Amino acid sequence: MIKFKGIAAAGGITVGPAYKIGREEFTIPKEQIRPEDIPLQIQLFEEALIKTRKEIVDLQKRIASDMGQDEAEIFDAHLLVLEDRMLIEEVISRLKKEQVCVPYIFSEVLKKYISVFSKIEDEYLKERTSDINDVGRRILRNLLGKERRSFTDLKEKVIIVAHDLAPSDTASMHKKDVAGFVTDIGGKTSHTAIMAKSLEIPAVVGLEDATQKINNGDTLIVDGSTGMVIVNPDTQTLAEYQKEEQKLKGVAKIFFTAKDLPAVTKDGRKVEISANIELPDEVSAVREHGAHGIGLYRTEFFYMNREDLPSEEEHYRAYKFVAEEMKPYQVIIRTLDLGGDKFLSQLRIPREIRPFLGWRAIRFCLAQPDMFKVQLRAILRASVHGKLKLMYPMISGIEELLQAKKILEEAKKELKNKKMKFDDDIKVGAMIEVPSAAMTSDILAREVDFFSIGTNDLIQYSIAVDRTNEKVAYLYEPAHPAVLRLIKNVIDAGHAAGISVGMCGEMAGEPNMALMLLGLGLDEFSMPPQMIPEVKYIIRSTTVKQAEKVAQEVLKLPTGREVEVFTQEKLRRILNEAGA
Ligand code: PEP
Ligand code: MG
Repeated sequence: MIKFKGIAAAGGITVGPAYKIGREEFTIPKEQIRPEDIPLQIQLFEEALIKTRKEIVDLQKRIASDMGQDEAEIFDAHLLVLEDRMLIEEVISRLKKEQVCVPYIFSEVLKKYISVFSKIEDEYLKERTSDINDVGRRILRNLLGKERRSFTDLKEKVIIVAHDLAPSDTASMHKKDVAGFVTDIGGKTSHTAIMAKSLEIPAVVGLEDATQKINNGDTLIVDGSTGMVIVNPDTQTLAEYQKEEQKLKGVAKIFFTAKDLPAVTKDGRKVEISANIELPDEVSAVREHGAHGIGLYRTEFFYMNREDLPSEEEHYRAYKFVAEEMKPYQVIIRTLDLGGDKFLSQLRIPREIRPFLGWRAIRFCLAQPDMFKVQLRAILRASVHGKLKLMYPMISGIEELLQAKKILEEAKKELKNKKMKFDDDIKVGAMIEVPSAAMTSDILAREVDFFSIGTNDLIQYSIAVDRTNEKVAYLYEPAHPAVLRLIKNVIDAGHAAGISVGMCGEMAGEPNMALMLLGLGLDEFSMPPQMIPEVKYIIRSTTVKQAEKVAQEVLKLPTGREVEVFTQEKLRRILNEAGA
């Protein structure tokens, strides 16, 4: 039995036989051609592009009907690669110059593109290397006249083990045949992770050498929640995990029964359970999982993967769409939070030594009010189409908040001058994710309608631990007593001023933390949609009194580790009593 750990990409436990997928190797001849053959080679290239396009469009249609529009849209990026003028022109010009057959020239240009993309530091763009690789291999296959490899011959439910899985590979598999995914490379935002999550199949990625350690047919245990993979487990381990797998499946069904019910405790306290999104088309997943609103709409994605800045109209269309889709529930739009680990080339943010402490989020927006106002005007204009609120990220003190509010007033005035409609009474909030804001939340509370605690940053700033650095990841403790005291301070200050306090950091969707946060008085929990049924179920299974008791006990504990153990035990008891 060997155990190893990778990146937990999609939750759940699965047990099954390994099915290894090797990298598809092509032998590409380097054949010289005659000048008069060049037009024919160009024609071959064009035909391969057309054939590839048709394949992708067909695949997209099938995915849309089998899995939904969101999953199908992953292939939009592939279609864009096919239309990339630079790539096409480079192939044609090298073909003319070097006079070597088109499969060889294309494979050389493809290698160059992949190497450039894989060196980009932006994690999102880096992950897109697999799009180029995937579509590139399709074109090569068509240039060489090869058949696509197929996964339709899978006879039993297997765990796919691969160096990397291309989107078209995952798309040609079916949920009934695949119990899990294990890959050598990839991160939390890789396509394998995205697809596995939406198919609700456990996945562990980034294992580095899984394909070397695992043989075809080995029995695997994949724990997609912890990132653990166990190869050929002994009978006792296997039995333990199988029991856990069955339990989780049964429990997930029970949680789902609560998803459309209100989040009310047994003694009648109602809280808001809402979702975090990054793209407008995630609203369908939000509704499917029973969210009553969006507590964090991150807007950075607008600015990614493009050369120019998004226009006011683009912002407006997206916000209007989300507002209308979510009506009558609220949608909290967070204004631009660039910088830190979210970089963009076209905004020319200089490289800083400590970007997380640098020119990011509200600091960056306040320094460029004209750019900031484009987004503010769009949010205001969209506010007539639903229940929109807005909030500012990374507020560190009252002056920033006052400045942001002043720019908002200017934006309102500009719209009034143009006689454009908007909700003049739009609610404005501050994210509390910097310790200085948490400590002065009584002062900030006078100036806003609500708070939303961003624990992802609050944890990194209060424990001085970079949230992206795996070497200090062991120190990144959501339940650290310092973090809990800051959270309590913010909730108390907010309530003393009569405003509501929510949380939109990952901690809000941690089942273990739910009782404690409820007991501290949190009003709104905003989380990834998939976590909603479970957290709702927990809220509905407890009383405020029980939750307050948990919170009181937790505040006496000296370490985050002890808080984790204590809250886990309390949660287990409450769920047992509730029959889950
Ligand atoms: C947070 O910091 O908790 C948060 C929600 O913001 P982001 O993760 O986008 O920085
Ligand atoms: Mg943040």
